[in-house]
Amino acid sequence: MTPLLTVRDLQAFYGQSHVLHGVNLDVQQGEVVSLIGRNGAGKTTTLKRIMGVLPPPRGHNGGSVTLDGQDITRLNSNAVARRGVAWVPEERAILGNLSVRENLELPPLRPGGWDLNRAYDAFPVLRERAHHPGTKLSGGEQQMLAMLRVLRGAPRLLLLDEPSEGLAPVIVQAIGRMLDDLKAQGLAIVLVEQNLSFAARLADRHYVMVDGRIVDEVPREQVRERRRDLLHHLSV
Ligand code: ATP
Repeated sequence: MTPLLTVRDLQAFYGQSHVLHGVNLDVQQGEVVSLIGRNGAGKTTTLKRIMGVLPPPRGHNGGSVTLDGQDITRLNSNAVARRGVAWVPEERAILGNLSVRENLELPPLRPGGWDLNRAYDAFPVLRERAHHPGTKLSGGEQQMLAMLRVLRGAPRLLLLDEPSEGLAPVIVQAIGRMLDDLKAQGLAIVLVEQNLSFAARLADRHYVMVDGRIVDEVPREQVRERRRDLLHHLSV
């Protein structure tokens, strides 16, 4: 079966600084994979190259990104989003001068996407805060809002950058339950994480990233025995 996402020999530069050195990874339809690695390993940059937020390097073979067998390497982020890929950046990108409801309604609602009621039902506190400005939300509420907002577009692949970072355990659990449901509905997810127990609960496979390369791949069944190897590659 053709993987949903195929990344081959991905390279990235910031100016002269070469930060991705040939990243290879695959995501099958409906699969959840994690991308684990220390700060600066290149996880966020990998998501940005997949999403087209960071364009391919000029004058280099920057590698390829394929979605459902179609080359999307050179598409910009709007075009990648239209093909069903959604990105929730680490900084969550909530617009503080807009209300919760206005933030939720920013992306166009696509067939099968989550409308306002479904979003509010999934996380009722947002219904209560519908008219509050985005800045008044807690970190956890902002993370939920950022995730619910992209679900309006009915994505096939969700790219999540450290969704549990800095959040209280109770909200991390709520986000975990929501991701369980999304996974059960067949959504494929790439999860960048520093929280191994959170990632281990969801991911079918873990890719370990060091200095801009994938150096290891650990399937769910081996997480227990290889826990020390995985923890070794986290910052905390
Ligand atoms: P983090 O969890 O800290 O975001 P990461 O694994 O996601 O870590 P990246 O953010 O992809 O790592 O960063 C990879 C490398 O690129 C790091 O050395 C970082 O300092 C550098 N880098 C990231 N963004 C930029 C930028 N806009 N300009 C210059 N260098 C950058």
